[in-house]
Amino acid sequence: MPAEVIIPLQQHIGAPCNPLVKVEERVLVGQKIGDSDSYVSAPVHSSVSGRVVAIEPRLIHTGDKVLSIVIASDEKQEVAPSHGLSDEEAMDSDKVRAVIRTAGLVGLGGAAFPTHVKLTPPKDKPISDVIINGCECEPYIAGDHRNMLENPEAIVDGLKIILRILGAKKGYIAIETNKIDAIRHINDLISSEENIKVVPLTAKYPQGAEKQLIQAVLCKEVPSGCIPCEVEALVQNVGTTIAISEAIRKGKPLIERVLSIAGDGVREPKNLRVKIGTPASHLIEECGGLKGNPGKIIFGGPMTGFALFDLNTPIVKGTSGIVILPKEMVPVSDPRACIRCGKCVQVCPIYIMPNFIGQYIEVGMIDNAEEASVMDCIECGLCGYVCPAQRPLIQLIRHAKAKITDNRRKGGK
Ligand code: SF4
Ligand code: SF4
Repeated sequence: MPAEVIIPLQQHIGAPCNPLVKVEERVLVGQKIGDSDSYVSAPVHSSVSGRVVAIEPRLIHTGDKVLSIVIASDEKQEVAPSHGLSDEEAMDSDKVRAVIRTAGLVGLGGAAFPTHVKLTPPKDKPISDVIINGCECEPYIAGDHRNMLENPEAIVDGLKIILRILGAKKGYIAIETNKIDAIRHINDLISSEENIKVVPLTAKYPQGAEKQLIQAVLCKEVPSGCIPCEVEALVQNVGTTIAISEAIRKGKPLIERVLSIAGDGVREPKNLRVKIGTPASHLIEECGGLKGNPGKIIFGGPMTGFALFDLNTPIVKGTSGIVILPKEMVPVSDPRACIRCGKCVQVCPIYIMPNFIGQYIEVGMIDNAEEASVMDCIECGLCGYVCPAQRPLIQLIRHAKAKITDNRRKGGK
């Protein structure tokens, strides 16, 4: 139980929430404390009972300051009343989507896209295949593996809910073969389900990326610039699927998640179920504290995460873990000019050319980067990892994508 939680009002892709509480107000566990009128958004809830002590901008893992509600816990954990849907109500797709929105569900794999929006594909794009993503392919991150071992019933239940509201025909639970216990466990559970199957996949990075997963499971390629509904598919993360089941059956909002505190720089690495808004420092303490002076603390996995520079940064809905690396594992950054070795092109899983794209972005040729399909980049980080010149490719790509998205939003190019 942290003494204080910091709940940012923007933890998702889409419009930020507005606060629904005031400073000094008492709040309960699961009480909605922020919401927005926008369709692409998700409300936020208090993860503790206690008193609102501040509503002010606070630093989040991306380095941005986001308006946040700070709540001092009274440690009583008094829960706001909530109830799920009856079996009959759960047959009504609109009611299910409404509950999912009310519960503040977003993709827990990292992207944090509002789940009710994802589960509402365009009318002319029916979904026939739903894939539950149990491929936790980033090193150190293991929360979904625990989820599959400890809560498989909720995964199967969540998948059945998704299949029903989308009218989809087949459900797949994709799990890498290095999680053989999870494969066995879930296979036992679904032995009598005709339209659900476990698909064991080779353990490799980035097997869990949405488009790669669709290709591996369904042998279908999502075209450039398109989303999975283009090939009648939908991918949902394991943790989100559990949250869907809990929201529908119990009315439980998204106030906690499972994540990994890992790496050689922490004394006792663990998977923990944590309250949204818990400061990173509290979790590191829970794991015995830091081992020496760390070289880098990363929010998320080592390939796609963000380097952290303030341990008071709160856990948000999309945080899959905190990885703490000792100094000797963090190379000194010394970026140099591209030597045209082509290694980044060789490893790029979506077959774009990070070398040229990086050079375009460096000289401000964002239009050329867009033409070279920079928006298709899944930000796996492989190009930067293999680059012998230590080029900051992923940082350049993120910068260009933000600029292009901003231009598109303003109705520009
Ligand atoms: S991060 Fe690099 S390797 Fe990964 S998809 Fe983007 S350009 Fe390709
Ligand atoms: S890996 Fe680095 S040095 Fe090699 S081509 Fe790509 S950007 Fe250039």
